Amino acid sequence: MATVTKVAFIGLGVMGYPMAGHLQKAGFEVCVYNRTTAKAEQWQQEFGGSYAVTPAQAAQNCDIVFCCVGNDDDVRQVVLGDSGIFAGMNENSILVDHTTASAELARELDAIAKAQNKHFLDAPVSGGQAGAENGALTVMLGGEQEIFAQVKPVMAAYAKFSQLMGKAGSGQLAKMVNQICIAGVVQGLAEAFNFAERAGLDSEALVQTISKGAAGSWQMENRYKTMFAGKYDFGFAVDWMRKDLAIAFAEAEKNGSELPMTKMVDGFYQEIQENGGNRWDTSSLISRFKK
Ligand code: NAP
Repeated sequence: MATVTKVAFIGLGVMGYPMAGHLQKAGFEVCVYNRTTAKAEQWQQEFGGSYAVTPAQAAQNCDIVFCCVGNDDDVRQVVLGDSGIFAGMNENSILVDHTTASAELARELDAIAKAQNKHFLDAPVSGGQAGAENGALTVMLGGEQEIFAQVKPVMAAYAKFSQLMGKAGSGQLAKMVNQICIAGVVQGLAEAFNFAERAGLDSEALVQTISKGAAGSWQMENRYKTMFAGKYDFGFAVDWMRKDLAIAFAEAEKNGSELPMTKMVDGFYQEIQENGGNRWDTSSLISRFKK
């Protein structure tokens, strides 16, 4: 492929809106599509570029089409069918899916792309809303090395690190591992901070000390203040986390992994949803102790 100039971005949500903005600011010619057109109009007013009224139209004549929607069904809706991304893409162009979805879907879309002489990379991200807004996301990808090499410098507009994990689906598998890690770490912090409060320790002095040792983590440093304060509207929503954990549980069934702690934490997130905390962030696990 010659130098990438024209790209499309499908899905201008919390993540996609700023990611597409970074691409336009980096000098690419960006055409966006969003199901709710008002958001695409707002994006164009803020960043320039253009917008289309179907994913197929946005994808026309693009070197790379990026996509970031909700779940497997949403990806199918924007990628397949007469007005879907594949219908608009030229041969040899690349679809990069940033949605957190199943590895099975990634393999399916990779096979369809190959049959049409197109390319596919599954590319879920980590780093949250702040990472998307600051252009500092981490991207884990599945697909072919030479396709990854073409996409990597373009993704640098919003990613501080990207890594090809293996064949199609491997990016999604890595993201499942990421979410399994987060579930355990955040529950550990919830229990520890509740214990600290009941023990009468000074939270600031405590975290400034133990974060420098073996207990330190991104979650500890970035979430301790709000967890102690009982504020949970800063990060990744419980609804999204449960969607991601369900994907991991389905994969674990297939590969024979046991996820006892993750299942327990998922049950705690369910309790939080039942109490109306669907849009609270994942650190709200500590709310169960604040009754
Ligand atoms: P969001 O704010 O809810 O945005 C979802 C976007 O997808 C919107 O543009 C929505 O369009 C579009 N969409 C959803 N279903 C669609 C469908 N069936 N057809 C067409 N468009 C559809 O979500 P987000 O927070 O950006 O998350 C997007 C993906 O990134 C998810 O897979 C999530 O798990 C993952 N992720 C999120 C974070 C985070 O911190 N938010 C972090 C890492 C990964 P409308 O505007 O019309 O609703």
